[in-house]
Amino acid sequence: MKFDKAYCLSLADKLSIYDVRELNFDETLAFDSTHEHFLCPDDACRAAFPQSNVLGTFNARNVNYVRTPHFKNLPATLHREGCPYGQRKNSAAEEENREEHFPSELLLTRRQYSLPPTPANPPAALPPPPRPTEPQERSPAPDKTSVFAHPVECFVSNIGDKDLLKRMPLKIGEQTATYWTFFKKVEYLQDNKGLIYWGRIKEIKDYTSSFRIDFEKKVWADKKPHSVNIYLSKRLIEGYRKRKAFLEEIKYAIDSQRELYCFFYGVTPQLKQVPSKKNPQQTFAVFSADIDNLDHLIIREVPGLERS
Ligand SMILES: [Zn+2]
Repeated sequence: MKFDKAYCLSLADKLSIYDVRELNFDETLAFDSTHEHFLCPDDACRAAFPQSNVLGTFNARNVNYVRTPHFKNLPATLHREGCPYGQRKNSAAEEENREEHFPSELLLTRRQYSLPPTPANPPAALPPPPRPTEPQERSPAPDKTSVFAHPVECFVSNIGDKDLLKRMPLKIGEQTATYWTFFKKVEYLQDNKGLIYWGRIKEIKDYTSSFRIDFEKKVWADKKPHSVNIYLSKRLIEGYRKRKAFLEEIKYAIDSQRELYCFFYGVTPQLKQVPSKKNPQQTFAVFSADIDNLDHLIIREVPGLERS
């Protein structure tokens, strides 16, 4: 049985596996899921057992994963009678390795995790005095996420079930659509602005000050096909809190012989005239954009795409 969330003992809060991956790769935080205790998210169940009654994590630390990351029962994990997470049998979706927990909204601001202060996580200022009359709303609503990888995993792992993707709603910013509509193949990017664009990567070029991701498919405009690319500034990457994981992901992608896809949100490539390398007097038109937020970009495989 897969868990949408698990209770993390040191944070005293419920986390999705995507939150755990965020925390693992964030170099500004001292967090390592292999040293954390994850317990059943059902409050009554958790209370019934000692804190040693833990769950395992799968793909929590692997940057380039193919199988859907998840929490799992360990052979020794116990659940109270009637615990909704106590099912030992896997559902069909689990057998097929599909993400079943579709967030209804991608929040564009990062979630603030309440890590206990350590030398690596100094408290920014004096902690505010506790206000016990106010309920603590640290976790986003159960079906919202601030981690881009989560809706992407929902789309990718369910790509064989178009009807499901056409049913499930997704909200980002002010825009609401279904998963199917929100994920737009990059060759159709002129259809609508502000979507999650995705496509197979043709090549990644490593330049002095940036990486350029070229997409395989072209966009038709003015009765001509135009290439699509996005630029990732190296200065942006250097200042990124998940710099190491991001570089590992992109270096792997450059060297990889496998079919890789790029998903991004936040910018819509525009038709631009760029000088030709061979003849700088000449220009040609490409659809291009500069990525401004690395949190909303993912490079990964899409298992099952050829079957869909
Ligand atoms: Zn339980």
